[in-house]
Amino acid sequence: MHELEPIFNPRSIAVIGASRREGSIGHSVTKNLIDGKFPGPIYPINPGSPEILGLKAYPSIGDVPEPVDAAVYCVPADKVLDVARQCAKAGVKGHIVITSGFGEVGNKKDEEELVRIAKASGGRVIGPNIVGTMSNPAKANASFAPVLPYNGQTALISQSGALIIALDTVTYVRKFGVSAMISLGNMADVDFADSIEYYAQDPNTTCIALYIEGVKNGFKFMQAGRWAGKPIVALKAGVSAHGAAAAASHTGSLAGSVKVYQAACNQAHMIWATDLEDMLNKSQALAMQPVLKGGNVVIITNGGGIGVLGSDAAERHGIPLQTAPADVQAQFRKFMPDFGSPKNPVDITGGSGVAGYEGAIETALKCPWVDGVGVFYCETAVTKATDIANAVITKLKESGVKDKPVVCCFVGGAGSVEAGKVLLEASIPYYDCPNKTMSALAALRQAARFSEVGCRVDFEPYADVDKKRAQAIIELARKAGRKALTEPEAKTLFACYGLPVTKSSLATNENEAVRYAQEIGYPVVLKIVSPDILHKSDAGGVRVNLKDAEAVRIGFRTIMENAKRYKADADIHGILVCEMAPLGSEVIVGSVNDATFGPTVMFGLGGVFVEVMKDVTFRVAPISIDCAMAMQQEIKGYPMLQGVRGEKRRDQEALAAVLSRLSQLVSDLDDDIAETDANPILVYEEGKGCRVVDARVILKRR
Ligand code: ADP
Ligand code: MG
Repeated sequence: MHELEPIFNPRSIAVIGASRREGSIGHSVTKNLIDGKFPGPIYPINPGSPEILGLKAYPSIGDVPEPVDAAVYCVPADKVLDVARQCAKAGVKGHIVITSGFGEVGNKKDEEELVRIAKASGGRVIGPNIVGTMSNPAKANASFAPVLPYNGQTALISQSGALIIALDTVTYVRKFGVSAMISLGNMADVDFADSIEYYAQDPNTTCIALYIEGVKNGFKFMQAGRWAGKPIVALKAGVSAHGAAAAASHTGSLAGSVKVYQAACNQAHMIWATDLEDMLNKSQALAMQPVLKGGNVVIITNGGGIGVLGSDAAERHGIPLQTAPADVQAQFRKFMPDFGSPKNPVDITGGSGVAGYEGAIETALKCPWVDGVGVFYCETAVTKATDIANAVITKLKESGVKDKPVVCCFVGGAGSVEAGKVLLEASIPYYDCPNKTMSALAALRQAARFSEVGCRVDFEPYADVDKKRAQAIIELARKAGRKALTEPEAKTLFACYGLPVTKSSLATNENEAVRYAQEIGYPVVLKIVSPDILHKSDAGGVRVNLKDAEAVRIGFRTIMENAKRYKADADIHGILVCEMAPLGSEVIVGSVNDATFGPTVMFGLGGVFVEVMKDVTFRVAPISIDCAMAMQQEIKGYPMLQGVRGEKRRDQEALAAVLSRLSQLVSDLDDDIAETDANPILVYEEGKGCRVVDARVILKRR
């Protein structure tokens, strides 16, 4: 038996603080369990009343003669720990703690004690500060939400209790089928990961929908998503740029929680929802239909307009329509007048009735070329929407096809809404506009893709790295009381993990600089090295393309003067003499240590692409080469790496190795590294690699 069974699927429930007083939570919960027809015993606990709502009540949980699976806490906060001890003693394993007044008001201590008591007796806690839990298969409304939600197959897990109450009745209006509705509240114990793990193995659930405000343990969350093997939709609230202002590096300022959350959810095989509506739309399709195994979607429509809108939406959501092959077109041709179009969208035209739809649907379902079907319908005077709905249901049933998703888009008034209900009752998703319909189909495609690609588990650590030396570099900087590494230190650190940094030596006087320049070979670059100067160019601290000793001497003096003018008391370590890297495509690679998900890596094109367009992408580290290749393809500027205006393709493989190696570096040194920047990296044509020209590493506070 799963450890969370007593919470999510209890066979017997005690309501601690059950009450005869209408309007109290103890009364609502007891009444809801009765009204929901909970089949197991309900034990109201109240020392003052022998009977509540027709049920025998007990003075304390210890007085109940039989074992109890779950206790729903409806007592004031100051009674909770006492109740927990009594429940633990009585063998209760499921602690459903509705009571507020804990972590959310700063009372962490009692919250921790509550969990400790429950766990010491082998129990688990959901809450505190929740609406409760609702399970349709168990007929358990252990909450103060009005009714058990509309029955179906989505488990809805929400950090917000108010949202649970609001959505509860929405499920009936939308016929949004729910297996369970769970309020997580403070997540003192049971969190998103635990819930995902439970509903992943629950036979009554085919889709898991999450409303997230904040994840506590990012790693556990991502693991749970990866292992679920069921579609998960994630809606994250509070996507403003947290912490970005405090970030010191370039990458840090581009991070913000949204991009990182989005990346983490994607890596955890979760489907991102942009808002509540989007979450409900996608969950509905994922709960009811099989995944979309290939990219060939056919739209069958009686209206050209909605067909074209569907086609536009398909492209927008990443599943562009393909023109049907000639033989497939010939089959569709049979079910439309001459002025129809079999190309895709398959336009059977406005005069088409049930027969036209039936023929086209049957053809699409049978046709091996077709991976999924969107049945679009514009309400007309010649057809009845419910007749079309029934045609979809009948043809799908008759075909016996189980591996092709079918979704419906009915645009019209009351008739279409009515038809939508008929469809939803038959487990066929219905939407009232083309965009929602195609977004839902795209979610079904994404769900299929997740089983095809891996991004994190297949990371193979590089063996040719020198972690000890990397740590020693950091220790040295820490001993000097610095929060950041200088450029030469950062470059050596990067080199420990096999990043191709430009050759360089630190000179403390002109003669040394000339000697190093000769060793490295002209032309060279000179750069100021000072913990007080982060952006070297801004301080006139960089001189490039110096071709001889004389140029080096002048460069050395100029940089020193500029640096002193920039900051008179700057602590100057010297001047870095670097190999001059040939021109190439400028890209930026970096990392930030996210509060929730830990080390992440970032990639983008340099210059205006990153500064103005913010065309960057993130991943939670570590990442494989495949994942690093996918990152490059993801940015809008990707064609630049493919080679524009006669240029050859850039060495994307070398760049992928840099990303993957950096991801290992920041994972290995997670305790020390806050942010890194390799800005710019110059990338050359295929086979010629890349060069890290500038390096910055900011340390975590100890
Ligand atoms: P900062 O970002 O602190 O101003 P950088 O080291 O990035 O300093 O140098 C500024 C610019 O100078 C780089 O963006 C790059 O265009 C050029 N540059 C710096 N070092 C080299 C080098 N070794 N080879 C070629 N170009 C360089
Ligand atoms: Mg730079």
